[in-house]
Parts: sequence; structure tokens; C-alpha cells
Amino acid sequence: MTCRPAIRLGFVAVLIGMTAATAPQTAAAQQRGAARRPANPAARPPMDRAAARVHALELLSATPLVDGHNDLPWAIREEPGMQRDVEAYDLRKKTPHQTDLARIRAGKLGGQFWSVYIPGDVKAYGYARMQLEQIDIARRIIAKYPEAFVPAGTAAEMRSAFRNKRIGSVLGMEGGHAIENSLGALRAYYDLGARYMTLTHNVTLDWADAAADSARHGGLTNFGREVVREMNRLGMLVDLSHVSPGVMSHALDVTESPVIFSHSSARAIVDHPRNVPDSILQRLPKNGGVVMVTFVPGFVSPAIRARTLERGRQQSALRQRHGADTAAVSRGLRDWDAANPAPKSTLADVANHLDHIKKTAGADHVGIGSDFDGVDDDLPVGLEDISTYPDLFAELIVRGWTDAELRKLAGENVLRALETAEKVAKRVQRERAPSTKTIEELDGRRPRM
Ligand SMILES: [Zn+2]
Repeated sequence: MTCRPAIRLGFVAVLIGMTAATAPQTAAAQQRGAARRPANPAARPPMDRAAARVHALELLSATPLVDGHNDLPWAIREEPGMQRDVEAYDLRKKTPHQTDLARIRAGKLGGQFWSVYIPGDVKAYGYARMQLEQIDIARRIIAKYPEAFVPAGTAAEMRSAFRNKRIGSVLGMEGGHAIENSLGALRAYYDLGARYMTLTHNVTLDWADAAADSARHGGLTNFGREVVREMNRLGMLVDLSHVSPGVMSHALDVTESPVIFSHSSARAIVDHPRNVPDSILQRLPKNGGVVMVTFVPGFVSPAIRARTLERGRQQSALRQRHGADTAAVSRGLRDWDAANPAPKSTLADVANHLDHIKKTAGADHVGIGSDFDGVDDDLPVGLEDISTYPDLFAELIVRGWTDAELRKLAGENVLRALETAEKVAKRVQRERAPSTKTIEELDGRRPRM
């Protein structure tokens, strides 16, 4: 139930006060009232923020909030003094970053795609080794806290974990470089628990262009398309966060399953390459995909984006003026920073992206992918850590989002996408065997990797 307690108690009082004689009258009066109600049956009276927060907590107790992206495994890998040490980095105490058990409970988290991110420019050893290490860290985190986490591999397991008051935990790979151009490696990662993979991170691969790098292929190569088809066959969600608009478009052409963006926001609001253009948002209703809005300040705040671009222009001008005198360039930039302090992003900025995606793609295509524990800079004011989701929901309630829309946003949309991907996988597995294609066969040239 998602009624506010006051309303529910009031309704109970009416029922208790009813006699056989008055009941039909009351029912008739209720019917007349119903006729005067607005057309949208889900509409509720406006609430102030305190009431909205109470309502948000009730709603998130009854419906799972599934976050698309949390970098806790990377935070543990990197934490000074306890690197890779899942035992030492104790979630039962307050942690130095944004995620621990007390704050998870306060935030009403109901399911999590734990990111098993690896950088795209590892030189010391192979990507696959690092990927396996991150999967190992994530699996050890999940196993260490059975009072909070349950390993999950399907949408049904996520729902069942939520019913048992646990957080269904799946793994999300960040960066297609981890497969080292091998569909066999992709299948092995699925077996280890990966249920999505961003096709790239910030580095363009042999088969896909990254948003933050040069577009060498104009989108996906033939092998890149085969990766998407094999992910469809496995039931692994194709994650389009971090890829170029060309890859987004090609992936939507090829995929038979819904895509997700595990942590991206709207490009119409902040023109950052990591965000999703309206032309792609408009294709989501047909595909069934979900954009899980991220809280990364540089992607959500127009003021921060404008300052970053202006800072870049100042830096270029300083370089032109001072040439090889890098000390003078640094000094000039320091002075500019002092005169132009960075603005703060806010919870309202994030809500603006959610509003825009709901308006442009529809309420069936929006979700939440915070990127907690993966952001170096200050998080938006009001969304500082994992305990703050109910405040975001309160803001949306004040803005007029219906309960049905909020349930979709919280987790129903991404669980529907995963369920659809599972169904498509069952069908495709009857139609075709695991792909044995290689990048050399499909793209006709030697890969760089
Ligand atoms: Zn990322």
C-alpha cells in the first residue's frame, strides 16, 4: 500500500463508523466524489515536502528501488591502506565513501547492480585479469553481508530478495575491453554473474566508439554488432552508458532486447557527451529500454558544465599566451579558479533530468543509476550518499509524479527490461548456438588489442 498513514486511518475510521443504514449512502457519496475527481485515477492531493518524504518511505518499502550503478567494488580496490581488502573495508561501520549498511537501510535501497568497473587503459597486465579480480571483490562483498545482500541472477531473484528484505545483488560490467575481443570470455562473465556490460568505458575499442574518445568506427563494427547479438542470446543487458551516439544508434538497430543506460542523464539539459540525446530517448518506447539517471555533478548541472567549458577555453588561451612556460599557465589557471569558484549541483538538477526523460521517452523508460562510490567530486547537495534516495522521491512527489510513475522509476522499469531480456534469450538460444565468430573474421583486420 502506498497511502499516507493519515489517509488510511481516516478511511478506516469511516468504515468503523458505518452502519448498515449509512453504508449505501456513503457509497453513493463516494461515487459522486469519484465522478468529480480528475481523469487520472492515480492523482493524489498536493503534499508538502515533509508529507512527501513520509510517502516516499512508504512507497519504497513496498516497491524495490533498484539502482543501476554503484562502484563500491572499485572503492574497495582503491581505498588507501585496505586495497582489495573486503574484510577491512567494513560496511557495518561508517565508510569513507557513500555506501554502508546503515545508510543503505536509511535510503531504502531494494536492489543493486554493483559495478565491476575496470579502466580502459590498463598497461600493467591484461584486462581480463583485472575484470576477474573486480568480480571476485564484488562477489566477496555480497557473500560477506548475508543479512543485507543476496546474489541474484534474474529479475525474479531480485524481487524475491526484496520480499525477504534483502538487496538482490547483480553485477554490471563497465567496459567491453574486458572481453578482450572474445565472445567466449563474454559468456564466462555471464556465468560469473554479469547481467549488463557497457559496451565501452572512456576509451574507443577495436569494435565500438566511446563517448569520451575519438569515433574511429562511426559506431559499432561488424564484430561489435555480433557482441550485441551474443549479449541478447545470453540475456545480458546491453548498457549504452559511456558509448558514442553512433554506437547507441547501431546497438538499437541490432538488439532484440531492451537496452539500458546504467548511469547517464539527459543531453538536452546538459550537453555532455556522457548524456543521452533526445533522438535516442525517442527510440526507447519501441525498444523498451531504460535510462537510469546518474547523480554525477558534471553530467547533471548546466552551471558546472558551463564552467568546465569556460575553464577549458581559459586554459587554451593561457597556453597560447605563455607557450612552454607551464608554471605561468598553472598560475593563471589558479587565479581563474580563485575568481570563479565551482558551482554546486543539487538534487533539483537531478530531478530536472528525470522530468525531461519522462517527458521525452515516457515514464516507462526512466530509472536511477546513482554512481555512488564512483564519483570523486562532491555529489549534488541533497544527494550526498546512499541514504538520500527518499529525498529525491519526495521532490518528485512534490513535482506531481504519480505513485505508478514512481514505482516504475524506482525499479519496475529496469526489472521489466531484465525480464524481457531473459525471455528473448530463451527464444534466441533455441534459434542459434553460441557465436564462434572472431573479430578478424568479421572486421577483416588485425585488432590493436
Ligand atoms: Zn561510468
